[in-house]
Amino acid sequence: MAIPVPRTWDAGQPRGDRSLRKAFSIQTSSQVPLKQGRSLMDWIRLTKSGKDLTGLKGRLIEVTEEELKRHNTKDDCWICIRGFVYNVSPYMEYHPGGEDELMRAAGSDGTDLFDQVHRWVNYESMLKECLVGRMAIKPTIPKDYHEEKKVLNGMLPKTQVTDTLTKEGPGSPSYDWFQTDSLVTLVIYTKQKDINLDSVIVDHQDDSFRAETIIKDYSYIIHIGLSHEIQEDFSVRVIENVGKIEIVLKKKENTSWKRLGHPLENHNSLIPKKDTGLNYRKCQLISKECVTHDTKLFCLMLPPSTHLQVPIGQHVYLKLTITGTEIVKPYTPVSDFLLSELKEPVLNNKYIYFLIKIYAAGLFTPELDHLQIGDFVSVSNPEGNFKISQFQELEDLFLLAAGTGFTPMVKILNYALTNIPSLRKVKLMFFNKTEDDIIWRSQLEKLAFKDKRFQVEFVLSAPTSEWNGKQGHISPGLLSEFLKRSLDRSKVLICICGPTPFTEQGIRLLQDLNFSKDEIHSFTA
Ligand code: FAD
Ligand code: NAP
Repeated sequence: MAIPVPRTWDAGQPRGDRSLRKAFSIQTSSQVPLKQGRSLMDWIRLTKSGKDLTGLKGRLIEVTEEELKRHNTKDDCWICIRGFVYNVSPYMEYHPGGEDELMRAAGSDGTDLFDQVHRWVNYESMLKECLVGRMAIKPTIPKDYHEEKKVLNGMLPKTQVTDTLTKEGPGSPSYDWFQTDSLVTLVIYTKQKDINLDSVIVDHQDDSFRAETIIKDYSYIIHIGLSHEIQEDFSVRVIENVGKIEIVLKKKENTSWKRLGHPLENHNSLIPKKDTGLNYRKCQLISKECVTHDTKLFCLMLPPSTHLQVPIGQHVYLKLTITGTEIVKPYTPVSDFLLSELKEPVLNNKYIYFLIKIYAAGLFTPELDHLQIGDFVSVSNPEGNFKISQFQELEDLFLLAAGTGFTPMVKILNYALTNIPSLRKVKLMFFNKTEDDIIWRSQLEKLAFKDKRFQVEFVLSAPTSEWNGKQGHISPGLLSEFLKRSLDRSKVLICICGPTPFTEQGIRLLQDLNFSKDEIHSFTA
């Protein structure tokens, strides 16, 4: 029997404790030094060499639980992920999290462990030559979407809708549609008040139309094969006070539609956000400008048939195929507000900016750097757990950033200075190795000059003798001096981002200084 190849898995924000975080990871700071010739690129080369990595000469088998359990040693290690079994022994020495971490799932179902760690790592692509087969006992399959009503002509009957929605989630959202001669308007009733343009992601590709609305920790999905052709562009409007979203599609021909279309995967369902795969769309590279000796500002343009806005504090995954293997890495979009004096303001939300450091010995960033203007990169849906509500009534905002850990701070800074009436003070402490590594230094200094609420301090770990600013690493001394509240009991938020050991040490120091969990937001891998 032919075994279906698992779907591309590339979603999610990694969670879980530190040890779990390491398992399956392809890029954590808790990386174990790999032997010479055991980089990810070496692994990709091995998978292309034609070597039989499963020991089954390309045969795919059905694996029983007993059989899986037997393969539990380093030299013979099988792991099941989402019902598919991989022989990971050949991969052991290439796993950046180390062999022991991988062995935690030896001979067992590692799906939960994998999901808690790096759900977005594209294991199907990385381990495709290690695929042994499928588990004989099928995992529970979610309710088949084909059971839904086949023809859509607006809202489904209430009984059918509630059937597909989970009981613990927010009150059942629903949708409806209506048309004029030239337009089709799809209306999503979220029944929530905190909905905005960031909450909905719309993609139209060929005749497939998909709208994902984020409602708290759930996604409400409308996914339809449209019955008629529409034009590329569409508009999205949110009526916030009633939680209604209107998506206006332009018909290609002015004919009356008898039905909207047929349901596609997960249509009209409300599913936990962590269970939705990440959707990707191809974005075009519009510009690439040097910011420091190794960091560049990349501007990508979304396709006209996509509506996507990355919320503050969230990141996306960029995907490139490198020597035949799909590689996915997270990046945090920035806004261009610090550059606005130099540039025409951007009038629409079609552009996404990224500050990306190119690591000469890295796997992904040199490939990204080699892209030419006009080339395409796949960009995922946003992920992340930063909540704008953390800004409510905020008086003092402290930002601790190291290296490219500055990226989430850009939008946070912009939002705080323009949208929080209660704000008294924003301070950024920016850690870098040398002066040459400081991203947007003059722009930050100009902003501090222009807006008296904002202050910036640079701390260098490897300065030249000419540097007369602060030096060293994150420390109790530096923090206690920096984190002075503007009032005795002012409401404070501290955001911290950088290399994981920097962030972890920073959190410990902040706790020692008696800041509570609610007052600290860390951006971690
Ligand atoms: P890698 O191949 O990961 O290598 C990076 C460096 O580590 C190289 O010098 C390499 O030689 C070394 N290295 C690799 N493996 C090992 C090992 N096993 N042992 C020792 N050294 C090793 N980066 C940005 O520039 N901008 C952003 O906006 C941004 N946002 C992010 C958001 C999130 C949520 C996270 C988790 C990370 C973010 N990053 C960002 C980092 C980014 O995802 C990549 O990790 C980074 O670009 C490096 O990718 P790479 O494949 O080029 O390098
Ligand atoms: P970098 O230049 O290597 O380091 C920046 C500064 O941090 C340097 O002063 C460095 O000191 C210091 N530092 C490094 N490790 C430290 C530690 N263990 N304790 C204290 N200080 C330490 O940084 P980078 O190459 O730009 O890397 C940025 C990191 O941020 C990456 O790991 C990236 O994944 C992460 N990031 C995360 C997110 C997110 O949302 N989670 C977003 C963007 C970036 P030294 O001179 O001693 O090295």
